[in-house]
Amino acid sequence: MVTPNCLARRLRSARSWIALGVLAPLGMLVVSGIMLLDLRRDAWDKARQTSKNLLQVIERDIERNIEIVDLSLRAVQDNLRAPGLERLEPEMRQLVLFDRAASARDLGVMFVLDEKGELILDAAASPPRAGNYADRDYFQFHKANRHLGLHIGRPIVSRLTGERMLTFTRRIDKFDGSFGGLVLGSLKLSYFGHLFDQIGLGKEGAINLYLRDGTRLTRYPYLEADVGVNIAGSQTFDRFTHEGSGSFVETSVRDGVRRLYTFARVGDLPLILNVALSVDEIEAEWRGRTLIIGSVVLVLCGLTVVLSLLFGRELRRRAAMQAELSRLSLTDTLTGLANRRRFEETFARAREVAQRTGMPLSLLVVDADHFKRVNDRYGHTVGDAVLQGLAGCLTASVHRPEDLVARVGGEEFVLLLPDTGREGAMRVADKVHREVATLAPTGLGAGSVTVSIGLATGASASCEDLYREADEALYVAKAHGRNQTCCASPREPKATTSLLRLVAS
Ligand code: GH3
Ligand code: MG
Ligand code: MG
Repeated sequence: MVTPNCLARRLRSARSWIALGVLAPLGMLVVSGIMLLDLRRDAWDKARQTSKNLLQVIERDIERNIEIVDLSLRAVQDNLRAPGLERLEPEMRQLVLFDRAASARDLGVMFVLDEKGELILDAAASPPRAGNYADRDYFQFHKANRHLGLHIGRPIVSRLTGERMLTFTRRIDKFDGSFGGLVLGSLKLSYFGHLFDQIGLGKEGAINLYLRDGTRLTRYPYLEADVGVNIAGSQTFDRFTHEGSGSFVETSVRDGVRRLYTFARVGDLPLILNVALSVDEIEAEWRGRTLIIGSVVLVLCGLTVVLSLLFGRELRRRAAMQAELSRLSLTDTLTGLANRRRFEETFARAREVAQRTGMPLSLLVVDADHFKRVNDRYGHTVGDAVLQGLAGCLTASVHRPEDLVARVGGEEFVLLLPDTGREGAMRVADKVHREVATLAPTGLGAGSVTVSIGLATGASASCEDLYREADEALYVAKAHGRNQTCCASPREPKATTSLLRLVAS
């Protein structure tokens, strides 16, 4: 479990801040990425739904209008069989055959052809306008097929009105079942123009109406050249015919624009209708948002990373400063040795270990002899240099990493020797005397500096008084002429400390 203390410690750690500075932006990037993908999916869902709705509306309108034309054609087809029709006056016959739908705005022409293709009945004129249409595809089709259903022809230019139109024809059979001509109704292509004009599909959106054989009947936006083009065999058209209805994304064979095609058959008619929206336009709004959100998130992430790195660096600098301060607070500035504070802390720990483990602990208190004189005679600067020299001698006298050399007063030093018995400590004291004997500070000859050493060794409980015993031994060493080591003799419980003097060689 993360306790408040643990949390506070982690917050102070530079590594935590750097990790946070990397993880937080990563998290932000992931969340923003998911959000942007969601927005993109929404844009596509909206485009699919809009296309589907448009397709339905357009399909219904086209289907209804073709149905109206077809109903008129059927009425003519049926009425032509009415008895006594040929006996009627031409005007009456026209009224009986063609209903009012034939005069609707988008309807082009409506007429009947005989088996030779001659125009014999015309909804718009009586007597009928002259013309022969035997060369038209629809005429050839009906002549060759006994099928009586509705035939939708390729777009043509009307010979009567000069307008572009779609033809819808039904065959007329004679009573003996042979070909008796056909009835034709047409729908102006401008009808599709009016219908599609009301729909906003963007700059690159398109609506196409095809015959099932791949002939394009009309397109929005309208271009004369597009009408009548056959795209059968193209990948897009293959999907229209095979799948019946649905949507897919494909690159247009006409203009190379990638579009979302939503397509369906128009009722039961041999017509395929599609609404195509440009992929670029579907994603345009999303791309704009992505650019803004992405830039803001990236800037924020960058800022977070930079700030975290700076903060982490600052924390590290502070930690290093603190470490340096605490090192300095435990170091003697003149000699670079451990100072009294560090000695006391280390001594307390060493005493505890010795008491717990029963291992011997030795302490040497080293004091420069007649040091006042050195100062008085050669000045403080030389005195300082001597103290630095002495520090070097003491450091050179010990080798174990756990031994500690410290300066505890003006010209007073200590050597703390854990796990060292009296004999080992004496050897170190001897080494100190030998090292000091070689010391030759500037202006003073070798052997001009000497030290007196008080040595005490304790084991377990006796460690408490170790410093006092070593100090007393030092006092004895001074009293007996200096430049020697005096050793506090091993203590009997409750007995007074006796001292053993060793003269330095
Ligand atoms: P003894 O042999 O009895 O120890 O005589 P001593 O002169 O060494 O002892 P005393 O305690 O009388 O004098 C210690 C002198 O050490 C006093 C002072 O001038 C000198 N001293 C203490 N600290 C420093 C220091 O940091 N630098 C210098 N140059 N001298 C210091
Ligand atoms: Mg002294
Ligand atoms: Mg002293």
